[in-house]
Amino acid sequence: MQAKESHNTICSYCGVGCGITVTKDAKGTLSVKGNEAYPVNKGMLCSKGKNLNYVAQDTSDRILHPQMRWSRNHPLQQITWETAFKRAAAVFKSIIAKHGSDSVGFYVSGQCLTEEYYLANKLTKGFIGTNNIDTNSRLCMSSAVVGYKKMVGEDAVPIAYEDIELADCFLIAGANPAWCHPILFRRLEKHKEENPNVKIIVVDPRKTQTCALADLHLQILPGTDVILFNAMARWLIEKRKINTAFIKKYTSNFEACKQKAFELSLNEAAKKCDIPVNDIKKAAKLIANAKGFITMWTMGLNQSVIGVDKNVSLLNLSLLTGHIGKPGSGPFSLTGQPNAMGGREVGGMASLLAAHRDLGNEKHRQEVQEFWGGKPIKKEPGLTATEMFNALENGSLKAIWVICTNPVVSMPNAHKVERALKKANFVVVQDISHNSETTKYADLLLPAAGWLEKEGTMTNSERRISYLPQVIDPPGEALPDAEILWRFGQEMGYPGFDYANASEVYDEYCLMTKGTNIDISGLSYERLKTEGSFQWPVPHKTHKGTSRLFDDHEYYTANQKAHFNAPRNLFNQSEQTNAEYPLILNTGRVRDQWHTRTKTGKVKRLLTHIPTPYLEMNKVDAYLLGLKEDDIAVVKSRRGSVQVKVKINFDIREKVVFLPMHWGKILNSDFSRANNLTNDLVDPISKEPDFKYCAVQVEKY
Ligand code: SF4
Repeated sequence: MQAKESHNTICSYCGVGCGITVTKDAKGTLSVKGNEAYPVNKGMLCSKGKNLNYVAQDTSDRILHPQMRWSRNHPLQQITWETAFKRAAAVFKSIIAKHGSDSVGFYVSGQCLTEEYYLANKLTKGFIGTNNIDTNSRLCMSSAVVGYKKMVGEDAVPIAYEDIELADCFLIAGANPAWCHPILFRRLEKHKEENPNVKIIVVDPRKTQTCALADLHLQILPGTDVILFNAMARWLIEKRKINTAFIKKYTSNFEACKQKAFELSLNEAAKKCDIPVNDIKKAAKLIANAKGFITMWTMGLNQSVIGVDKNVSLLNLSLLTGHIGKPGSGPFSLTGQPNAMGGREVGGMASLLAAHRDLGNEKHRQEVQEFWGGKPIKKEPGLTATEMFNALENGSLKAIWVICTNPVVSMPNAHKVERALKKANFVVVQDISHNSETTKYADLLLPAAGWLEKEGTMTNSERRISYLPQVIDPPGEALPDAEILWRFGQEMGYPGFDYANASEVYDEYCLMTKGTNIDISGLSYERLKTEGSFQWPVPHKTHKGTSRLFDDHEYYTANQKAHFNAPRNLFNQSEQTNAEYPLILNTGRVRDQWHTRTKTGKVKRLLTHIPTPYLEMNKVDAYLLGLKEDDIAVVKSRRGSVQVKVKINFDIREKVVFLPMHWGKILNSDFSRANNLTNDLVDPISKEPDFKYCAVQVEKY
């Protein structure tokens, strides 16, 4: 019998990235608790993290063997890994030979480990010769990525969690961290409890649980965020509450920001946002008086057709007040997924290259090509998430390889995604669980190892890189995603895929970062295992990591100054409401579920909080529609419909309804899938979809 053993790892759910100590007893039974020595969570875990041992040990839903079908009319049949790799390589080679390299694509996930992301990129951009690789992080953070690049020249979160305890004013916009980033929220709660002078402003069309901590809740009309942030900027400028010395010395383009901010008067802005003008002034005053000011935001700003505009107008507030590059200050995007940032670091999007290099930069493309020894890298961005499924539907993309994500439930306009997958010539799905609805569309289904079953690294929202050890064996014939990718590369006949383990992949990537702004050439598995986690950059072998960026106010832009940006649009350009579709639908998360519930859905304890999907609506709207609590409502948009129970309150604005995004098919019906309704409009720059705004009608079932 084995002795009891403990391992430190990281939670596999959200971008907070909490440390977890996993204990395996003599019988192999797992238990988890918060790692008290880990700086992020100091022993705390939220309900999802606390139940990860059940997820890891229940293998009843797991894909255990590679499976393949010869045609769509045949059922999937178990095959060997050897046959699986041969089949995948043969089909990819034949499609590429006939239709070119841009006829295939990979759609991956912010849940992938950094090594897996790196290899998927190396395969596609470096050897297959297409930039058609995108990720579900496109649905989550891409507007923030563009915002950071525009402001500081790179996708670089300037601050660290330790800044939370040093700040005295927080502006939380389009985010509900009380439910979606619970451990960060607990740090914020404790900080405010110990320092009652700390002020918190929340911007949200719904009165969420986060509002319990708010000194001021600005319950704006959906889509009016830019107008609100510009109005705050205007007040700060007019009242001379801006940091003129900072602006002169360290920034550029202030005039463009000012001009945009002055397009509407404060009264006009308040009217557009439908909030009292005094609340805008109150919020701006709190920001003006702050010694340390942090902005926090997530999907409410990012998931919009004007997501980039929302981001830059919020970022301008940090520059106007000089609150960046100093303790307790800075913009802080709350990442949704555990390794969305790690994926971006290795270039895991259609528009990026490894180590934050630019696809449009010839020198960067050359560097990457020489490093990999592969094909010339194309300069045009590949297909992004929604574009990929559009291309499958119109037939220009023939094959897709989906790794660790469930687009049939998570993508906007889900019926279109189903049509696209049906139309595809060849669909590979690499996942851990049959609970993913996307597995039903697979021509080749590959069993992947899950959390605790493989080793690798992840980067959380504060640039902290941590090592995740293998603790248990994967069930059946499941393999680590990295191994599946390098063995496919070998089968394709590509050089440079003969890795013996994930550590070799990591070393290669670390070397590739040398000399860049995210240099982690001083890191290795050995250091991560023995010294703990590090925040990048870590440029040499005795470097201790970098908690806060831009202390020296030398930004990564061409002129080394932080850049103000004028939002191009003040108004939301989303689908419009009308007499037929008079309500605005907002989608989002609930506390105890994660993504499309492939993992949290199988933990009974997590079903006690909110067991079924629901439509949240205002009492006035419900009264006018003759709806009572728990009545079944039919919600329709121009793309589809859902049927769910109604939850009625005064917490949500009139004319706005909210539907959680987690549920896919229940009893073979897709009646509760929120993305039946959402539209696939995207921000023109970030290509992030507009999940937070579509026109719907509601009626009693
Ligand atoms: Fe996991 Fe996020 Fe909860 Fe931490 S806050 S335990 S990372 S889900």
